[in-house]
Amino acid sequence: MEPLVDSYGRRIKSMRISITDKCNFRCTYCMPAEGLPWLKKSEILSYEELERIARVAVNIGIEQIRLTGGEPLVRRDVPDFIRQLRKIEGLRSLSLTTNGILLKQQAAALADAGLNRINVSLDSLLREKFAQLTRRDQLSRVLEGLEELEKYPSIHPIKINAVSIRGYSEDEVLAFARLARRKAYVMRWIEFMPLDADQIWRKEDILTGAELKAIIEAEYGPLVQITTGDPSETARRYTFSDGIGEVGFINPVSEPFCATCDRIRLTADGQLRTCLFATEETDLRAVIRSDASDDVLATTIRRAVWNKELKHYIGDKRFKRANRSMSMIGG
Ligand code: SAM
Repeated sequence: MEPLVDSYGRRIKSMRISITDKCNFRCTYCMPAEGLPWLKKSEILSYEELERIARVAVNIGIEQIRLTGGEPLVRRDVPDFIRQLRKIEGLRSLSLTTNGILLKQQAAALADAGLNRINVSLDSLLREKFAQLTRRDQLSRVLEGLEELEKYPSIHPIKINAVSIRGYSEDEVLAFARLARRKAYVMRWIEFMPLDADQIWRKEDILTGAELKAIIEAEYGPLVQITTGDPSETARRYTFSDGIGEVGFINPVSEPFCATCDRIRLTADGQLRTCLFATEETDLRAVIRSDASDDVLATTIRRAVWNKELKHYIGDKRFKRANRSMSMIGG
């Protein structure tokens, strides 16, 4: 079978599937306080429809699926959906990105259903700051969710992702680094990107991974790079000189990794996006809600992938904001 490749020769292996645009947080860098106009139920793909797209995508070369949103765990019956996806032959990794608030109740069911990796988004360990940023006073529930996850070693690794924003993130870098050394959590920071619905992003707000690393190294001495040989890895990964703990820096703005990007995204309303910053989408919902066969669906996905964007142009005159914010795309 022909590999799933784009016109620049990148082999596409990973698909993020947004299962809902709704979220129970209102992070200031992502969504307005009042939320966004939510998609209608009829616009959102059913689990059967999502499973069909996932199966066809895996048949033509996708190996990893990550469920996201919105907040994926606000949608009902996520464990049942995971169980369905797990049956797809050829799917090597199934993960979830969540804000963690519902994990305490759902971790056991997620593990039982076969989830094998997880990313929990957490930007502050300070109650007030967390409440200000997410507009929800729920830090303790997220921390309880993380503790609960530790009971299920089949979900591994547990990664914590924090958005790094200048003037906001610097003073907690060491607290997060200590957490990564104390607990079995891999800590990663991702640079703030112009994907916020309120359009507050400014170039000056980016706090680069290099700056964060320097803060950690000033305290702990030189970090030791972890190399895996996987070119599509988004994070620069490090451990400490004593080998305890892992931190990573995802630097899409200061060190773009588009040349090795292996990702595509499916929005909750069935639009295939071949770049986070895409301004055009391919309507897979229209395809599957017609009488189209799996072959037609596969060809549509292949064609969209072939036309995958060369790169994002953040910081360049050619940059155009994406036509949706992160919560609508599925980060
Ligand atoms: N609700 C889930 C969560 O909190 O992880 C999944 C969706 S959320 C949109 C996915 C990730 O996107 C989160 O880690 C969030 O912090 C990140 N994100 C949202 N807006 C962003 C932005 N403008 N720049 C960088 N990361 C952003």
